[in-house]
Amino acid sequence: MIIAVDGPTASGKGTIAKALSVHFGLPHLDTGLLYRAVGRQCFLDDGNPDDGGDALAATSFPDALLDDPELRSEASGGLASRVSIHPSVRQALFDRQRSFALQAGGAVLDGRDIGTVIAPDADVKLFVTASVEARARRRYLEMQAQGRDVSLDDIAADLAARDARDTQRKDAPLVAAANAVVLDTSDLDRDEAVAAAIALVQGR
Ligand code: C5P
Repeated sequence: MIIAVDGPTASGKGTIAKALSVHFGLPHLDTGLLYRAVGRQCFLDDGNPDDGGDALAATSFPDALLDDPELRSEASGGLASRVSIHPSVRQALFDRQRSFALQAGGAVLDGRDIGTVIAPDADVKLFVTASVEARARRRYLEMQAQGRDVSLDDIAADLAARDARDTQRKDAPLVAAANAVVLDTSDLDRDEAVAAAIALVQGR
């Protein structure tokens, strides 16, 4: 069984994808991490993330970079959303994601274009979303818990900018696949969102 989980930043899709992977005993790939690694590598190379050539060069990042905690930062998320605009970058990361999806026994992948581009043949497609306010509040509490000094307004502005880039790019924009089930987590806590996602997968 292939489960595709797409949605905007801080919608809860990562948490839901991980929980589905544990519940159904399937391996999980957080595809955002690949784009974050490209963005981070581009930064380490002194490249320009808005330049297609620099961004493409950064797709040959070493695998060890995927364990770098810095990839979880807002800065890496912003860089990821810039390098991910380039079609050549998306193409370079395609095979890795596609073969993960096609492994024997199935897989759970989360990202922006799993149900539309990477695994249009997925057995279940969830599109996890939430209001900008709910997402900003969650991200703010997360950052505070990590001891990072951030403002709620800055986070909301950053989320809105990333949403705009992700939904308006020409290649593989963030959009719910035609046959995706939409799960709005604005008013759900973690356990409620996970339970709702498990029920949706079981219902398919
Ligand atoms: O999900 P996450 O916040 O880690 O993703 C970081 C950025 O990577 C997103 O804002 C998006 O621009 C890009 N991305 C993408 N396609 C994916 C996963 C992530 O374009 N499948």
